[in-house]
Amino acid sequence: MPEGDTVWRACFRLNEALGGKVLTRCEFRVPTLATTDLTGVRIDEVVSRGKHQLFRFDNGFTLHTHFRMEGAWRIYPHGRSWSGGPDFQIRAVLATADHDAVGYRLPVTELIPTADEDQVVGHLGPDLLGPDWDLDGAIRRIEARPGRTIGEALLDQRNLAGIGTFYRAELLFLQGVHPRTPVRDVANLRRLVQRGQQLLYANRWRTEQSTTGDLRPNRRTYVFERPGLPCRRCKTLIRTEEFGTLGQERRSYWCPRCQPASRAAVQS
Ligand SMILES: [Zn+2]
Repeated sequence: MPEGDTVWRACFRLNEALGGKVLTRCEFRVPTLATTDLTGVRIDEVVSRGKHQLFRFDNGFTLHTHFRMEGAWRIYPHGRSWSGGPDFQIRAVLATADHDAVGYRLPVTELIPTADEDQVVGHLGPDLLGPDWDLDGAIRRIEARPGRTIGEALLDQRNLAGIGTFYRAELLFLQGVHPRTPVRDVANLRRLVQRGQQLLYANRWRTEQSTTGDLRPNRRTYVFERPGLPCRRCKTLIRTEEFGTLGQERRSYWCPRCQPASRAAVQS
């Protein structure tokens, strides 16, 4: 699933291609918007909020999309053929005189008044890559539920927006914190959150994310998707499990030696 840095990069590129331009073609291939045509409308800007994408138009409306697991926006020079998947997976086409932006497999494609954006992104905590990133605000939100596991708190977009299972796993390894550690027992929460922001920031231009600083294949992560392989620091075998509230369990990875479970680790 794309995490905050991937969405940020997608929106930056979309904004470069479409921002300030007038739509010469507009198609929404979703039932609720099938008859909506914004041809002639200008796109003021494209911005990310956490993992959400917001296309703001000069007619007072915003297109809200979200990638979830499989979605993607692709940008093509006008006239070039589209290659992001079969046609039936296309949910939106926004074209200008120079570029075609094509939204594939978007599970969320909706048009809302720009004034009502808060209804779709207002619940989000501080955006790790937003211009208004607020470290203290994120920490306050996480600390509001001290008995919850840090693993769950980091994925909760209402606490801070942008972290998924990849950054959660790597960040907790870097800080030596077991994913099930209760928030109240995390030794240096401020440093942990700060480091999370730095990881996303450092990766915002990279197509292949790396937390090790090594960009070679199979060297880019410490623990994520490395279950059963030796820890890069201590050679102990990496463990994995799924945990979280019922129905929202997500996979975590950790080194039992570098990230020892505290006695109070929360068991589900
Ligand atoms: Zn280790």
